[in-house]
Amino acid sequence: MSTSLSPKRTVAELKELRSFTADENGAQRVAFTPKWVETRGWLRKKLEALPVEVHTDAAGNLWATLRGASDRALLLGGHMDSVPNGGWLDGCLNVLAALEVLRRIATQYHGKPPITVRLVDWADEEGARFGKSLFGSSACSGTLNMDEARRLKDKDGVSLPDALNKVGVDFECVKESGAELKNAGAYLELHIEQGPVLLDLDLPLGAVLGTFGVERHAITFHGQAAHSGSTPMNRRKDAFLAAAKMSSEIYRIAERSHGGVCTIGSCTTKPGIVTSVVAECTITLDQRHLDKAALGRMLQEAKGASERFAAEGNVRVSWARLWQIEPVLFNPELIEMCSESIAEICGKTLRLPSGPLHDAAEVARAGVPTVMMFVQSLYGISHNKIEDTKEEHLEMCVTAFDKLAEKTLQWLSERGL
Ligand SMILES: [Zn+2]
Repeated sequence: MSTSLSPKRTVAELKELRSFTADENGAQRVAFTPKWVETRGWLRKKLEALPVEVHTDAAGNLWATLRGASDRALLLGGHMDSVPNGGWLDGCLNVLAALEVLRRIATQYHGKPPITVRLVDWADEEGARFGKSLFGSSACSGTLNMDEARRLKDKDGVSLPDALNKVGVDFECVKESGAELKNAGAYLELHIEQGPVLLDLDLPLGAVLGTFGVERHAITFHGQAAHSGSTPMNRRKDAFLAAAKMSSEIYRIAERSHGGVCTIGSCTTKPGIVTSVVAECTITLDQRHLDKAALGRMLQEAKGASERFAAEGNVRVSWARLWQIEPVLFNPELIEMCSESIAEICGKTLRLPSGPLHDAAEVARAGVPTVMMFVQSLYGISHNKIEDTKEEHLEMCVTAFDKLAEKTLQWLSERGL
């Protein structure tokens, strides 16, 4: 094995990136903005030193291709864009670690590895400006809803198609980027965990099993407005009381689900005045689980509970689905190789699901064998300027990710694909 891998260089490059893309409030690499374009230019400069072909696809994703003996390709991906006031590692850690791995592979195989190796920087993973996450990867995987995306506008009224046009992307053609996955044999993505699981277990790295499926609903309880002074307690049709009972119930539902999470993220009441019983109360419910059947049970239990609470309070309940996605499971052989790579570097490993969605989920949905590696997040926090990871863990993750890339490269060439 070549020793040309330099995890310290990755840390230095992350700091270099931070020096011109962050201000006192955090990272400002929002997709399709001048700062993001500048970031891409900086990345292209780094890639120029390598024997790679660089191009941007129909959806604005940036690809760097190191041609190998076979067209079959190992893909390493991440995203350079950030949320406004974001952290210094989310997304770009993956791209810069992949860059380092690409350097090692190019050196070790004298510019010609047994299979093709490609780095991808997905466009607009965060969806910070238009509210649509995973834009570039969902265009590439073919799951992007064109009618929905065509109507998206930012807070200044600029449409997504117009913003794309400014960076040279024709919205109507974005799905042509799917051609990039034609020879894809495997996709690997390293990411900060963005949660506290590894931190609480004092583990630097973990292998990701897949991304949670999500059920997102608005639940409305319909009662009756009544004077807060003249209406006896036993005569009320209090929509808020029924909704409030859901608050503690979702904790019991999550507990019974073994590994799922539930959140009531918003609550609005009508008429919403201090002197009236609540006539109408709408709460949002977000439920997530890695297991499809378990997620289905969580949803049924929530529906059952809402009907029970409605009946108890003499009110009515209605449900409206806001959004839904099935769980995405990663490739078992790649999960195994990811665990092995981690164990070789830090002795112990953990397999864990991902709560947030990632570009990796889109690539897996397109049928490409996929796995992610997580590195511990300090404070369990991201999308915040305090987002951080210990430098020794950053170096470890680059080394472990490189091992995973090499194992996958061998795996793909042995399979003769
Ligand atoms: Zn990210």
